[in-house]
Amino acid sequence: MISRLVFGALAASRGMQTFASKYGLRRRYGFGRQFVAGDTVDDAIAVAQRVESAGFSQTLQYLGTPVGSMADADAATRACVAIINRIAASGIGRNLSVRLTDLGLTVDRATCVDNLRRVLDPATAQEFFVRVEMEDSRYTQLTLDIFQTLWQQGYRNAGLDLQAYLSRSLDDTRRMNALGARVRLVKGAYAEPRRVAYRSKAKIDRAFIAIMELLLSEGTGPAFGTHDRALIDATRTFAASRAIAPDAYEFHMLYGVREELQAMVRQAGSLVRVAIPFGPGWFPYVMQRLGNHPTDVRFLFRTLISAR
Ligand SMILES: Cc1cc2nc3c(=O)[nH]c(=O)nc-3n(C[C@H](O)[C@H](O)[C@H](O)COP(=O)(O)OP(=O)(O)OC[C@H]3O[C@@H](n4cnc5c(N)ncnc54)[C@H](O)[C@@H]3O)c2cc1C
Repeated sequence: MISRLVFGALAASRGMQTFASKYGLRRRYGFGRQFVAGDTVDDAIAVAQRVESAGFSQTLQYLGTPVGSMADADAATRACVAIINRIAASGIGRNLSVRLTDLGLTVDRATCVDNLRRVLDPATAQEFFVRVEMEDSRYTQLTLDIFQTLWQQGYRNAGLDLQAYLSRSLDDTRRMNALGARVRLVKGAYAEPRRVAYRSKAKIDRAFIAIMELLLSEGTGPAFGTHDRALIDATRTFAASRAIAPDAYEFHMLYGVREELQAMVRQAGSLVRVAIPFGPGWFPYVMQRLGNHPTDVRFLFRTLISAR
């Protein structure tokens, strides 16, 4: 919790931003490169090609910059459409993850719905799958409502993330299962108040398992975004006990995290998709990840030392 607050403050610091823009994405010793492919779609495509040639599938995870106006939201939406066209031309797998705040969720709900539609239209035409990521709990209900609105308008090439740490997520899973929507289950990455979220690992793991069982029993093409070996084993064991084929669900893991586990899970016969974050909003994203995993701060120190 404390480390999340510290790295949250660093994310907002001008000094850190100047340092990050100068050194953070350097090819050698750039601390950002450990967590993100880079700031352009071409950086991400180059990483995706390597990931695919190693036998994994991938999803590109777009990180936009803060959106404070309709004009910003419009620019971010146009950027996403350009990314879709660039990915389609590159020949890599067509799978993109987006955050609704990047498409104007904090500016105006109706605009955000329109912008998501502007992304889903070319994505549908080019046979993409688009994953809507789940942000902090201020946006959970809105994200579900917007997703459901577009689902009811016939957009079926989209799915969304649900977070095991939110106490509401079991009910949200039932709602998404009833729609037939593809859910990816993750533990949850934000500092949330106790009234909405479990805090202890034991409670979050229990919730993850309950939702995982619901998704495998009643869901459509679920995915599990985790690097937690015990939860991966529990998922595989439950699926096997119900004779659910290994290709009926996927494990998703982040680029650069526990690569030995990624290889092991794939060798054990499961589908593994690597999520590759990229985009102009890489710096606050990296700070959030350092807040969740402070041991990774060594990459930041390595950059600091090499910058001197
Ligand atoms: C594909 C994908 C998509 C995600 N999308 C969302 C989302 O939409 N909304 C959201 O709130 N969260 C999202 N997350 C983040 C998620 O909620 C967790 O915060 C994150 O995955 C860490 O939890 P874990 O299940 O891997 O378990 P943990 O118990 O945190 O980690 C298990 C092991 O993996 C290692 N590990 C995990 N993450 C890292 C890391 N970043 N760096 C170094 N080591 C690490 C640790 O060493 C630990 O031993 C996503 C995660 C993934 C993998």
